Amino acid sequence: MSIDRAAVDWAAVRAEFPLLQREVHGKPLVYLDSANTGQKPAAVIDATDDFYRRHNANVSRAVHALGSEATEAYEAARGKLARHLNVRADELVLTSGTTFAINLAAYSWALPRLEPGDAILVSRMEHHANIVPWQLVAERTGATIKVADITPDGVLDLDALEAAMTGEVRLLAVTHVSNVLGTVNPVREICRMARKRGIVTVVDGSQALPHMAVDVAAIGCDFYALTGHKMCGPTGTGALWARREHLQARPPFLGGGEMSRQVSFGGTPFNAPPHRFEAGTPNIAGHIGLGAAVDYLDALGMDNIAAREQELLAHLDEEMGKVEGLRVIGKAPGKAAVVSFLLDGAHGHDLATLLDLEGVAVRSGHHCAHPLMAYYGVPATCRASLAFYNTHEEIDAFIAALRKVRKLLA
Ligand code: PLP
Repeated sequence: MSIDRAAVDWAAVRAEFPLLQREVHGKPLVYLDSANTGQKPAAVIDATDDFYRRHNANVSRAVHALGSEATEAYEAARGKLARHLNVRADELVLTSGTTFAINLAAYSWALPRLEPGDAILVSRMEHHANIVPWQLVAERTGATIKVADITPDGVLDLDALEAAMTGEVRLLAVTHVSNVLGTVNPVREICRMARKRGIVTVVDGSQALPHMAVDVAAIGCDFYALTGHKMCGPTGTGALWARREHLQARPPFLGGGEMSRQVSFGGTPFNAPPHRFEAGTPNIAGHIGLGAAVDYLDALGMDNIAAREQELLAHLDEEMGKVEGLRVIGKAPGKAAVVSFLLDGAHGHDLATLLDLEGVAVRSGHHCAHPLMAYYGVPATCRASLAFYNTHEEIDAFIAALRKVRKLLA
């Protein structure tokens, strides 16, 4: 596919995603669940397929030709992702996704350091993956958890956040983009505030990477976690970027092959980062696929993607605004293309099930964000999330289905 950056042919782009051509319950699929997992272009599927068909071998072990091809392709993928994030490849630990990445920061940085009297600050809008690891660390170290609140519109209250950065806070865990509200947090400003006070920052980039260009170096955080499957890559891929000093100084999280240099029963010197933190055989094919996803996104241009999604979001917002009895949760200015909503008299799961019968895939539930649901006083919401491969026609089909379902449930 050749894409003219100045005028992307979005219909041609969409045609690159085989799954989007299928039907569900006899209706054309309208996939509005990309915040859950993104669909994959043929280029990504082909890259993993090609690895298994032509190059499959383990990395960093075998001296034979296939072994070096596999290692080269795996390290090339790391390099692509590093360039995409504007960081050094040797500071990028490849993981199975954000959950592993945050746990890696929690167990290798926080667990050996925190003590009773220390505090970990998290925002109200975090995914469970950026709450529970910190609770586990707090339990084992005697540290406490503090919560930075949001406004009813779903905006992180920066004054309250700054006020919460008191002397005992050692670490701040904050999401770049909320998976429920779509709120884009000003992480650069937040990390600057934290850094001034010596607070280490962990940014969850899961929902940012699919939607916008992210310059991790410019953000100024200490750790940046991401997951590959939401940015057109395969499942079971992702990364943790960490400042060099954190990687150099830290003990490994998992022990095993690849992370050690010379094992003896007297002791084991560890490999240099990032391999120190990649014990065992990694998801080689998956990360090669993630490298292809990065190439794909870079060829499209993240600014083009962001502009396309904002245009789709404006249409979605406008049309949802016309549906009676519909309430949107999360109205932060400049939000990403993620819309949580409630419909009067309808339970989220019923709504999502009936929409599915119309071919429309939306997510319903708590979105792994119980504390946020509690803040809004709801057990669950429905969520429509867009990607650049969606169309105006799909949004219209979703709205028509919503109106039909609303009548059914009335
Ligand atoms: N953080 C956020 C904001 C998410 O949306 C998700 C996934 O939904 C995660 C973390 C967890 O990502 P993964 O399950 O890929 O590790």
